[in-house]
Amino acid sequence: MADIQEPSFRESVDIMVKRAMALMDLPPGLEEKIRVCNATYTVRFGVRLRGEIQTFTGYRSVHSEHMEPVKGGIRYSLGVHQDEVEALAALMTYKCALVEAPFGGSKGGLCINPNEYEEHELELITRRFAYELAKRDLIHPSQNVPAPDMGTGEREMAWIADQYKRMNTTDINSAACVTGKPINAGGIQGRTEATGRGVQYALQEFFRHPEDMKAAGLTGNLSGKRVVVQGLGNVGYHAAKFLQEEDGSKIIGIIEHDGALFDENGLDVEDVRAWIGERRGVTGYPKATHTTDGSSILEVDCDILIPAALEGVIHMGNAANVKAPLIIEAANGPVTAGADDILREKGCVIIPDMFANAGGVTVSYFEWVKNLSHIRFGRMQRRAEESRHQLVVDELERLSKDSGIGWELSPDFKERYLRGAGELELVRSGLDDTMRAAYQSMREVWHSRDDVTDLRTAAYLVAIGKVSASYRAKGL
Ligand code: NAD
Repeated sequence: MADIQEPSFRESVDIMVKRAMALMDLPPGLEEKIRVCNATYTVRFGVRLRGEIQTFTGYRSVHSEHMEPVKGGIRYSLGVHQDEVEALAALMTYKCALVEAPFGGSKGGLCINPNEYEEHELELITRRFAYELAKRDLIHPSQNVPAPDMGTGEREMAWIADQYKRMNTTDINSAACVTGKPINAGGIQGRTEATGRGVQYALQEFFRHPEDMKAAGLTGNLSGKRVVVQGLGNVGYHAAKFLQEEDGSKIIGIIEHDGALFDENGLDVEDVRAWIGERRGVTGYPKATHTTDGSSILEVDCDILIPAALEGVIHMGNAANVKAPLIIEAANGPVTAGADDILREKGCVIIPDMFANAGGVTVSYFEWVKNLSHIRFGRMQRRAEESRHQLVVDELERLSKDSGIGWELSPDFKERYLRGAGELELVRSGLDDTMRAAYQSMREVWHSRDDVTDLRTAAYLVAIGKVSASYRAKGL
């Protein structure tokens, strides 16, 4: 490995962006403007814990403000550093553009291992971090709206929302300062699982296109497909669970921080998740083969590989050994630019991160709109919809009876037809529509241009095209 020049995460994003820009006809200077990160704020703050002051380092990076607010998660991990946050902020810009969420790109991170702290300590740390960001408008409903990412979830988002509210007591839109909140703190149904759900919808859309399946040498549908997932956290767990329970896929490998589980006949995702919940890892799980070298399972024979943990896990050192014909990047940046070249050469199809994990920001967008409109989706229409459907059912039953035909609507049809869409149904519908439309915009470029041979370049072309149109409309 020593003599291999592996690009860093930020360099990888840069290489991929430049590759796409080389195929575009952007005005001089605009390329640079779009590519570079506008600003990164670094904060160091102290919190009194366990009788002493501990100092923490956090970042909030703003990549592009062509649309505001800017949007992007907050990550808690010891691996957080400025380059990583900037790479993630850049990806957010392109992701939002691709799925038409009206935001610029941002990202935040706190250099911390959350497992080392008690809940009340994490609350103190999170509130202090939120205070530092909010007082510089780096948390703000119309300027910068964070969301969960690795190591954070709805609990942290609720603390952030409350901290902002305490600092801005008269802001009627304060709940919109952060997304991914719990329902009882202004959240939206379906946000927790949104990124994993989006991964499922992305795969379902891929399998609707025989030409695309052919590119990966796959046939049929998701049923029975052998899947390996890396990271059974928020994103990986939900993606694996939905694929197993609803699409009939077989989860044959689960890779975690302490090794991997493998069973050719399929693992029970819920069971493994429960085990991890209790023991903080997969070690000792009795119903599958455990290997301590987790990354070796990235190389097993399978149909779909879902890296859903960290960046850079498929690199120039292992890419040639990866056998999956289809990789869907549920994590951000799991494939380095060098590995991307090797995999493309091998004919592996990669569904890129900026699309694959966009379900989170899509439903965050819905949550933000809900917070600003101060009303739950479906509240006004649901019963009206049900009444109209009831009219149709009554009329059909009357006609059947009066004409003597004697048709009967099945109870299942009636139940499903009569049920008006509530918030969860509407969120799923909006997410599915978004993922389908974004996939179609990428594949159209992929198949219509001879100089575009992969979905990632296609995704960048669509996204950068939208960002540049936005800058040009502003007169840049
Ligand atoms: P998470 O913290 O909920 O889960 C991460 C999982 O990965 C954990 O189970 C952890 O134990 C595991 N893990 C850590 N190190 C590992 C290693 N070396 N090998 C294998 N597994 C390891 O995080 P998440 O929210 O699911 O995020 C995962 C990825 O998805 C990140 O790249 C994140 O940026 C991306 N993402 C998340 C969201 C979201 O809504 N949460 C949205 C878009 C993208």
